[in-house]
Amino acid sequence: DKVIFNGRLTERSQINIDLEDRGYQFGDGVYEVIRVYNGSLFTGEEHLQRLIESAESIQIKVPYSISEMKNLLLKLIEENKLFSGIIYIQITRGVSQRNHLFPSADVVPSFVAYTRELQSPTEAMEKGVPAITLEDIRWLRCDIKSLNLLPNLLAKQKASEAGCFEALQHRSGTVTEGSSSNVSIVVDGKIKTHPATNLILNGITRQVLLDISRKNGLEIIEEAFSVEEMLQADEVFLSGTTTEIMPIIEIDKQKIANGQPGPVTKQLQVLFEDKIKEQCGL
Ligand code: PMP
Repeated sequence: DKVIFNGRLTERSQINIDLEDRGYQFGDGVYEVIRVYNGSLFTGEEHLQRLIESAESIQIKVPYSISEMKNLLLKLIEENKLFSGIIYIQITRGVSQRNHLFPSADVVPSFVAYTRELQSPTEAMEKGVPAITLEDIRWLRCDIKSLNLLPNLLAKQKASEAGCFEALQHRSGTVTEGSSSNVSIVVDGKIKTHPATNLILNGITRQVLLDISRKNGLEIIEEAFSVEEMLQADEVFLSGTTTEIMPIIEIDKQKIANGQPGPVTKQLQVLFEDKIKEQCGL
């Protein structure tokens, strides 16, 4: 497989990551995951825009424009003959002798991207999945897609050990998001999802959801909800680039409604699929 390493298409076996890359030592960088359907980027520009915003918020200047990055990614898809999968993109503050202080301005950020084949989680999306709740112990800039994912990893591991798909995090009883997904509830036909504050990542899938809901006459509001409200909701579902729209049918071993994916979630899955077809021509 080919990869992108500092702006060039290279064989994966040819790249060298320096011991003192600040991403490796400090997690000093940001990343994106973009879904590829039918050989096309889905919401590619939105992800690349967010990459630039995440980088700027930690004072890293991305040395490429959105269209330069897009062209590189399209070349990568073509070279690797990727049909259905993901592209992982990462940018770090670069290579410099270990020091908490930022390196001098002439140190160039490291930019890498690679592809992986991945199918949609169709069976789980049909049947729904169980989740646990967990105190959100992350920092107060969850809006930045930072490489520092340790609390997210601990949360996902805990969910998996409980036989669950995701950990739904909350701060003192107010639900924020999953470890790698956003979470929404449906109450009396109305969809609720946490507002795009510093406490969550403003998911691109979440933004697509807001858009397709409003265009199709579904009421969706950006308002935080409690764990209690979530457990009593008619429907609960996740959204994310690799998760897509995923029904949650059980939380902390308690069934949500009748324990089956609900009608609003199913409708959103169809509308989301339509959006993919429209953009990627599947
Ligand atoms: N929240 C977190 C913490 C995530 O890691 C992700 C996945 N990137 C999401 C939300 C969903 O974001 P998106 O729809 O952009 O993939």
